[in-house]
Order: sequence, then structure tokens, then C-alpha cells
Amino acid sequence: MKQVYSTIFFFIIFFIGCEIAAERDNRSDTTEDVLQEDYLPIAIDSCATEDSIKAKGLINLQEINPDIRVHLRYSGLNNFVNKDLYGCLTNAYVQPETAEMLCAAQQELSALDPNLHLLIWDAARPRSVQWKMWNTLEMPIAQKTRYISNPRNGSIHNYGCAVDLTICEANGKQLDMGTDFDYFGKTANTNVEFILVQNGELNYQQLDNRKLLRQVMRKAGFRTISSEWWHFNAMSRAEAQKRYEIVE
Ligand SMILES: [Zn+2]
Repeated sequence: MKQVYSTIFFFIIFFIGCEIAAERDNRSDTTEDVLQEDYLPIAIDSCATEDSIKAKGLINLQEINPDIRVHLRYSGLNNFVNKDLYGCLTNAYVQPETAEMLCAAQQELSALDPNLHLLIWDAARPRSVQWKMWNTLEMPIAQKTRYISNPRNGSIHNYGCAVDLTICEANGKQLDMGTDFDYFGKTANTNVEFILVQNGELNYQQLDNRKLLRQVMRKAGFRTISSEWWHFNAMSRAEAQKRYEIVE
């Protein structure tokens, strides 16, 4: 009797073994399907900030002109607040007319020296980011408004009609402009450069580099401001307000 039970037990184990083997064979037949299912590309999360900028009709500069280099300084830690204010936004957006003007400026620069490129540090800036900057910079309001537009009124950056930029070589090396981006002091001013050179705060090479940037930007129709050598407006705030919606 014991032997009969052993035989039955043996057959049960044998059949279970066959079933497992058959199952394994079936799976190996469909390995490709399984792999395809497991390794389907994961959809990249869209960037809400970027989506809302695009929805307002602004243009991604990298898409229309690869000669124009982009490194958004507020998308990263290398900025005056030492915080990443842009998160997923790493592309530079501007209004279509401003984009055309920038392409003209790049063309002019390339004609003068094919090794040189505009390097965009900031372009369309959501007003929510403007508030963060405004609240971070600790200065008397009269002084603060020289460097940051009051978010209540809206900055020309908030309309996508202003850019902060410098010039770099094809290898990425930036021309020396005397100060870094967002240097909040007199050396960044454009209206006292002659005095800065006389005082030794700016040298002739740095002055020439700034002049080159202004030359190509002005020729394309941009306007300068007196407090920051890197900032250029495609139009006045009143014009921008009339024509475009603010990027919130
Ligand atoms: Zn600016």
C-alpha cells in the first residue's frame, strides 16, 4: 500500500513538473512581447511652466536658431539667489518678433566673427519667479527697482520681450565683460563705463566686448538700459503690455 501511495505521489510530482516546463516554454515564446511591454518608453512629464509659455505663442529660441546658445542661469544654482527658480524650464522663450530680432543680432555677430555666439542667460520669465527674486533681494526699494522690476507692474521679461545675454566663443568660452550676470553694483552700469575704465574697474578689452554686444543688439532693434550691460529690451513695457499677455 505504501508503495502505491509512493507511485501516485511520483506521478503527481512528474505532471506538475511537466506543467511548469510547458509554462516556461510558453513564456519563452513570448519573450519579445514581454520585453516590449516591460521596456515601453516612459512618457516624459511635461513641464507645466513651459506648456503655459508655449500656449501664449512664445517661441523656443533653440528650436529656431541653434547658433544662439542658451544657458538659463535661473535654471540651476549659479545665480544671485543660489536657487533653481525655473525647475523644469530650461529652454529660452521669447515673443516671435523678439525671436526675429535675436536671429538678426546673431547673424550680424556671425558676419563680424563666425566664432562668436549670443549666449542667452534669461528670456521669458514667469511673474511668479519675478516675485521670488523681488522678495529675495534685500535692498531699499528705490535701489532694488534698478535691478528688478516690481512684479506688481510686470517686467518686460514677464512679457517675453526682454533678454539677458552675453557673447561666447564656439567652444563655450564667454567673453570677459567685466562682471558676471546679476552683479548688483556700479561696474555693471553702461552709462559710466568711461569712468570705470579711468578708475581701472573695467579694462579696454572688457569695454570693447560690451560694445560689440550692444552694437549687434542695437542694430537688430534692441534697447539698452543703464544699470545692466547684459539686459536688452525689444520694446518698452507699455508696448509689451499693449500687445501681449503676461506669463504668470
Ligand atoms: Zn534682464
